[in-house]
Amino acid sequence: MKFLNSVLALGVATTIAACSESGASTAETRTAPPALSTDQRNSTWYRDAQSRLQQASQRQIDNTPGAAKNIILFVGDGMGISTVTAARILAGQQQGRTGEEYQLSFEQMPFAGLIKTYNTNQQTSDSAGTASALMTGVKTKAGVLNVDETVARGDCKAGLEHPLTTALDLAELHGKRTGIISTARITHATPASTYAKVPERGWEYQAPEGCRDIAAQLVEMDRGDGIDVILGGGRRAFIPQSVTDLEGEKGKRTDGRNLVQEWKNRYGAAATYIEDEKGFKAVDAAKTDKLLGLFQPSHMRYESDRENDKAGEPSLSEMTAKGLELVQKGEDGYFMLVEGGRIDHGHHAGNAYNALTDAVEFAKAVQVAMDNTSTEDTLIIVTADHSHAFTMAGYPTRGNPILGKVIGNDEHGAPQDAPQLAADGKPYTTLGYANGAGFADLGDETNSDARRDAPAHSGRVDLTEIDTTKPGFYQESLVPTGSETHGGEDVGIWARGPGSHLLTGTNEQNYVFHVMVRSGGLLD
Ligand SMILES: [Zn+2]
Repeated sequence: MKFLNSVLALGVATTIAACSESGASTAETRTAPPALSTDQRNSTWYRDAQSRLQQASQRQIDNTPGAAKNIILFVGDGMGISTVTAARILAGQQQGRTGEEYQLSFEQMPFAGLIKTYNTNQQTSDSAGTASALMTGVKTKAGVLNVDETVARGDCKAGLEHPLTTALDLAELHGKRTGIISTARITHATPASTYAKVPERGWEYQAPEGCRDIAAQLVEMDRGDGIDVILGGGRRAFIPQSVTDLEGEKGKRTDGRNLVQEWKNRYGAAATYIEDEKGFKAVDAAKTDKLLGLFQPSHMRYESDRENDKAGEPSLSEMTAKGLELVQKGEDGYFMLVEGGRIDHGHHAGNAYNALTDAVEFAKAVQVAMDNTSTEDTLIIVTADHSHAFTMAGYPTRGNPILGKVIGNDEHGAPQDAPQLAADGKPYTTLGYANGAGFADLGDETNSDARRDAPAHSGRVDLTEIDTTKPGFYQESLVPTGSETHGGEDVGIWARGPGSHLLTGTNEQNYVFHVMVRSGGLLD
């Protein structure tokens, strides 16, 4: 402190001398900079920032390679920056606050940065190319999983010749326990990026002669002893067309194989297969070594729609808690991927309600991991694969409902008592989409997939009589497209634990793999 003071004093003296010499000012006429007023110092903004600064300046950095015995990678599918901001406000408002000041679980992590998400052949990326970048350390084309960029999409032979090894492969080869958890189909791009190598992400249950489909690659995985915990949707890719599941839907496999049975045969008594909430609740972690849970024929339900499920299914945070219990059984650490898979689907439907409520649940799942791991030996990374054409705009007053219409401030900065009107005389929402199927009002409908049956409607609508905060409200869009698209701007990355400081700055998406490998000692 003494040293710092003397440096400052020297700096001031030098400045004054320089000014005198130039004749622009003299030491005698200069007044000292005004001290901070008591009001300024006592402001909660001032005090909160001071305590934040105190914490940040005491931060210890563990730079030792291999110090992260455990790694958990959280991917919010489609969780761009505007989604994080809006989800943060929604979460805060659900707790009765104004919302803007709230912090989601991962926003409390010490390190954050930006990630560039483009694919080798696409400016705005898809989830297969981006997930491959995260998991293998090299970027590749859109639509392919863990084959390099020389492979043409859909080229079976070239795909077999150019496979890429994943971080999960490396963790298995190190004898670590592994887990993959998603609210999407477990054969969908992000979860599949941990284990599958295919030149076409659509080969979830069927592939051309000579190539293996994604579901088959999962149950046959030969790195280590295969993945220990698998929880998500996508049951239909594992059962033949001749079999009807407990929710009344037929399987999709045309080769007659029942991969659930094959998986059970492979692992025997220590393995548990579950497909509903009851089965999930009954899992005894102490007695279960391998766990396969397929809770839906296709994707799992949106969090806001979960109670409508026939057979019942766990939430993302519940699956994360269970997954952790199981992977933490090993001596040699673990690697786990957790995906909030349906944030993306809510956005594609043009429904901010489900995108945001799923993002809030995703943040809850991260909290579970933060509460049940140590910053000493566990690297937790939270990021998104890509963004969406989702905007937060207008000048709503502080605390305005994030899903509401824009109510602004008057000329004195106080909130007005009615929504503002655009140049067309109609009110407008804070949240909107640059493209997509646009406006629809499905009232209390909590399943965004229902939007597919309603007509597309680009452009403006008179929202005066419509409650835009309801689950079934679909925001207006400018450019009419069947489905709202991904966004090409950077996404955020947040991290804590050994090596987390390496994820600051602006980096290419494939860099994340390199941090995981160094921090986890996965190539040592
Ligand atoms: Zn998407």
